[in-house]
Amino acid sequence: MAEHESLEFGKADFVLLDNVSLEEFMANLKLRFEKGRIYTYIGEVVVSVNPYRAMNIYGRDTIEQYKGRELYERPPHLFAIADAAYKAMKRRNKDTCIVISGESGAGKTEASKYIMQYIAAITNPGQRAEVERVKNMLLKSNCVLEAFGNAKTNRNDNSSRFGKYMDINFDFKGDPIGGHINNYLLEKSRVIFQQEGERSFHSFYQVTNTFQLFYSSISLLSLSLSQSSIDDGGDFKAVADAMKVIGFTADELQTVYKVLATILHLGNLTFGVDGDTTLIENSKVVAVIGDLLATKEENVEKALLYRTVATGRDVIDKQHTAQEASYGRDALAKAMYERMFCWIVGRINDVIEVKNYDAKVHGKNTVIGVLDIYGFEIFQNNSFEQFCINYCNEKLQQLFIQLVLRQEQEEYQREGIPWKHIDFFNNQIIVDLVELQHKGIFSVLDEACMNVGKVTDKVFLQGLNSKLANHAHYTSRKVHKSLEFDRDFRVRHYAGNVVYSVVGFIDKNKDTLFQDFKRLLYNSSNPVLKVMWPEGKLKITEVTKRPLTAATLFKNSMIALVENLACKEPYYVRCIKPNDVKSPLLFEHERCRHQVEYLGLLENVRVRRAGFANRQEYPRFLQRYKMISEFTWPNHDLPSEKEAVKKLLQGCGFEQDVAYGKTKVFIRTPRTLFCLEEQRTEM
Ligand code: ATP
Ligand code: MG
Repeated sequence: MAEHESLEFGKADFVLLDNVSLEEFMANLKLRFEKGRIYTYIGEVVVSVNPYRAMNIYGRDTIEQYKGRELYERPPHLFAIADAAYKAMKRRNKDTCIVISGESGAGKTEASKYIMQYIAAITNPGQRAEVERVKNMLLKSNCVLEAFGNAKTNRNDNSSRFGKYMDINFDFKGDPIGGHINNYLLEKSRVIFQQEGERSFHSFYQVTNTFQLFYSSISLLSLSLSQSSIDDGGDFKAVADAMKVIGFTADELQTVYKVLATILHLGNLTFGVDGDTTLIENSKVVAVIGDLLATKEENVEKALLYRTVATGRDVIDKQHTAQEASYGRDALAKAMYERMFCWIVGRINDVIEVKNYDAKVHGKNTVIGVLDIYGFEIFQNNSFEQFCINYCNEKLQQLFIQLVLRQEQEEYQREGIPWKHIDFFNNQIIVDLVELQHKGIFSVLDEACMNVGKVTDKVFLQGLNSKLANHAHYTSRKVHKSLEFDRDFRVRHYAGNVVYSVVGFIDKNKDTLFQDFKRLLYNSSNPVLKVMWPEGKLKITEVTKRPLTAATLFKNSMIALVENLACKEPYYVRCIKPNDVKSPLLFEHERCRHQVEYLGLLENVRVRRAGFANRQEYPRFLQRYKMISEFTWPNHDLPSEKEAVKKLLQGCGFEQDVAYGKTKVFIRTPRTLFCLEEQRTEM
């Protein structure tokens, strides 16, 4: 249906497959990839395969081809989905969202940028200055967020290490007037540690390169990697320019560089002992840090070596062991980076958020949300981060199930067409396994963290094993010999089995940063730094509340995200990574098959086909096919367009395969549509 393309390029919609089998699905996907057709539909879902080469399909001329058109009129493309979301928003006054999913390197971030570019290109025909300003900010924000939130990993040279959801607000004319960014769980452990072959966040290399610091003297960065694909110096300038355009002041930019430099210097700090005393071995570094943080050297030293504790009415300084001091240093480096990242997002939001603009006066302000969030991860060694990321994917899969089914169901109801329910694996049970109060894995983890005394990862694992031993999706060593006692547990995710090592779960969940550091940073005489650390204002005796754990914060943010998406009309982009070597030529069958399976694409096709493969509004349908019937060509004399469509379809002998809704004709099998298309082109 989609496209005026010959079958040489495969089926443009998987719904058109002759048989819905995995083999046929894969064969079509492969054929299209090899023919340079990287997009294919499942109804209104776009399946995208990363081409790993520049494609000449995103230019101005292509944008023009998709503007205002219906999905099936043009070859499958991200632009068609973006246009559909935009039309729903503009014509039907609906809030919509575009959910982009897929594993690392599958092309989510690139897709989200093309979608934003498309929306920017088709809006504001009147060239209003305020709208142009907003569009520019929205596009520029990507560059800044990527510098601070992306890194080279073994899977992707520009891997997003945070989740991003961006709302674009539109006024009554359908022009963007603002936006808002939510960021999720930055992988801050990367600041202090990178796997072999990986790098820390781009921002560090951009500053070191530009300020000509010597990599070799910086222990935090794995810098032996010469990077031909990344131009750190050039990017530095682009990022600095983007930040200036967005409205970061010179002081703010300087502070950002100083925070980066502080973190790098922290990485060079080492601790030793002399008798009972813990000391800093390279105290010159402390002076530099004091300078960068606009605070006294001795304050920095004290915060690194001591911890102020309140015991009843007394406040005492307790000296760290060298090990505690190292732990504190690392926690500080991670926290400073994460805080700065969130602050940057906040500053961007200050600038792009819809102010008292006339949209509010007109009472109409609709939204398109774009979600670009980490895909399912199974590594050699899976830890707390992977657990959170995979939980996020369970939540999104659950939403997909609910929305895709709900959307179908609602449409049939609205149009007065009978609908029979379709079953497929419901992963709610896994979502519950993770997030249920008192019983779920997050609750068990939080309980373990509350224990006073021996809080260890092992205690956590014992808690899991005793509470969840009988859960169908949880496996402990007792059941599975390949798991290590005292260390591993396994979750059967909808996308596959993942073994998690509990090592580090407790620490990462508690995410402790000694209060002393918060006070140190709050008391800096650099006002920009100070605002990043408001809680440092509290005196030691005033700090009573235990901060929420990382797991609880993440869970809450995911629940809020899903609630937000659930009340919007969803559009999906499902990204597939064709191979692990970034090759434009290689379609690794097994890798792709696994992704097709866990993205639930085949079920998606089945659901789509069990209902009606295609639906079109009567006037549109007539316009497209009226030439194949004598009753409708060139004009019909029937009382309504619905009647005309009936007559046309009866004439072609398709009566059994269609249903007539209030405003649309529904076509059950793709073959019918295909025949119509053929007849049309033969005319
Ligand atoms: P992660 O989860 O690691 O952030 P991702 O899904 O966001 O991964 P991208 O960064 O979007 O992946 O894509 C990885 C790389 O693949 C890009 O840097 C680019 O080289 C290539 N790529 C992705 N999509 C396209 C495309 N449409 N055209 C050309 N190249 C692409
Ligand atoms: Mg990305």
